[in-house]
Amino acid sequence: MADSALVQDLRAAGLSVDTSESALSRATADASQLKSRPICVARPQSTAEIAAAVRTCRTHSVPLTVVGGYTGLSGGALGYNAVRLELRDMDAFSVGPDHVWAQAGASVPAIIRDTSERGVFFPFQPASACRTDDVYDYLGTTVGPVTIGGALGANASGLVGCKLGAALDWVRELTVVLPDGKTQIITDGFERYVGTEGRYGIVAEARIALPELPEETDTFLLSGHGLGAFAEVAATLGRSGVLPLLAEGMVLTGAPPDFAAIARRALDDPTGFIRQFGSVFEPHGWIVLLQGDENDTTTSIEALRSAGCQVDVRPLNDDQFEQFRQIRSAASDAIGVGVVNPHRTSSGKPPVERASAFLAHAIAEFQERGVRPKAEHNLGLLRVFLESDEDRDSFRAAVEEGSAFDDGSLALYEECEGNLATLLNRLLKPRVTPAMVEQQIAVNFPGNEDLLIQAEKVPETLELLENLMLQYGACPVPLFYCHINFRRTPGWILVHNRLLIDVTEFA
Ligand SMILES: Cc1cc2nc3c(=O)[nH]c(=O)nc-3n(C[C@H](O)[C@H](O)[C@H](O)COP(=O)(O)OP(=O)(O)OC[C@H]3O[C@@H](n4cnc5c(N)ncnc54)[C@H](O)[C@@H]3O)c2cc1C
Repeated sequence: MADSALVQDLRAAGLSVDTSESALSRATADASQLKSRPICVARPQSTAEIAAAVRTCRTHSVPLTVVGGYTGLSGGALGYNAVRLELRDMDAFSVGPDHVWAQAGASVPAIIRDTSERGVFFPFQPASACRTDDVYDYLGTTVGPVTIGGALGANASGLVGCKLGAALDWVRELTVVLPDGKTQIITDGFERYVGTEGRYGIVAEARIALPELPEETDTFLLSGHGLGAFAEVAATLGRSGVLPLLAEGMVLTGAPPDFAAIARRALDDPTGFIRQFGSVFEPHGWIVLLQGDENDTTTSIEALRSAGCQVDVRPLNDDQFEQFRQIRSAASDAIGVGVVNPHRTSSGKPPVERASAFLAHAIAEFQERGVRPKAEHNLGLLRVFLESDEDRDSFRAAVEEGSAFDDGSLALYEECEGNLATLLNRLLKPRVTPAMVEQQIAVNFPGNEDLLIQAEKVPETLELLENLMLQYGACPVPLFYCHINFRRTPGWILVHNRLLIDVTEFA
């Protein structure tokens, strides 16, 4: 087929543009499970080429989205009927004594490795960046590695978010390509570009400060059973006033009886590390990883002991800690494998309709209880469906006046007549392959990810979530990563949950 005028003009502007079937199908999905095929994939080699691509798309009135590693969980990079700007060739970075300079396509795992070899610490480490190549191969995934641009677009945090916050806390300078194609160096007001998924500007380069950290840290793994005990531990850690470098819990709730076996098989745990913590894979088993200097960890553990918390405390050596980090990352993918939904026939409606009804119901209940979604705009393509008319109108006005990028989501909203279930049928159902149905690999409901909950409200909120899941016939196997004291807000917990949609229902 002849190249379109758009593709010809992008090439004339100096860009490398790929319209091959393999490039288009690779660029069709991120880790969110949504599928949206791009018009073409362009790979700029410089900031000037990003700007040229932006201007060309604008001239042709064609939507455009920018993408780094495709590890985003909400379809933010996908857009609809859009050009995909892949920045992975812009991967240069350098490490100074107190900062890192990087192009947007630089690999976050490579920067973490480089900084740690120099004895300094990179301040945001999303779990997706802890994966090794082996784990990617094992999962058969083509996403990754996480890039600096994607981490800024999503305001990433992760294992050390407890003490160090998120990407926004560490940005000192950005070079941004704006929707009108102009390039600007930004030294304040970073929140317009960090955590807004590339809607208002494409990050081309960034300077990121490095934190000063204690030379010696200790790591402990706390474990226990029951949501009440978990909430008590979380609230006590919050009250202790200490912000350990790392405090992260994992709770499994409502897991079917065979889940432990499934998880162990899926995680391929040759050293039996997980088996030491048997309770973790029982319903409502949990672990909390605690890391910090001796003073912080001692204060935290003493606070737990004097509050009478029911918790098992074990020190971890460096190898065990590394193993934990990898398990933590792999667990989020293994979680849907082999899940048979016992509630499958509880409603005659198709799964996506139930899932979207569940989401609307859950959001209303959460609002009533003061449970807040994570502050960032991390709903990607779904966001425009979940926004109010007012928000949609102001986004539309920003696109029209040229201060926001058109990512195609407003057109998609109109095509689907604002119906979330129609959208999910269109973008989620194509993800389900016969092999997935055979292996019963559940699909995560995208966008229903992060909730901020007060520690003492954790049991009632999780119970509510579980009841809603049963009511709507969802798979009752959400996994929760809880960042205690997350982002310096004492007593609050950030819960990442996975709402699993049973793929056998799509068959
Ligand atoms: C197993 C797993 C674990 C995860 N754990 C964490 C975690 O602990 N913490 C966390 O925060 N996230 C986590 N994530 C989500 C994801 O890894 C992060 O959001 C990551 O920062 C995305 O980086 P990326 O390069 O893959 O971006 P992409 O997926 O390519 O893009 C993400 C968003 O950023 C935008 N974007 C990409 N590049 C740019 C740019 N140059 N300028 C502006 N916007 C841009 C995209 O348009 C998109 O909206 C996890 C994901 C997985 C699959």
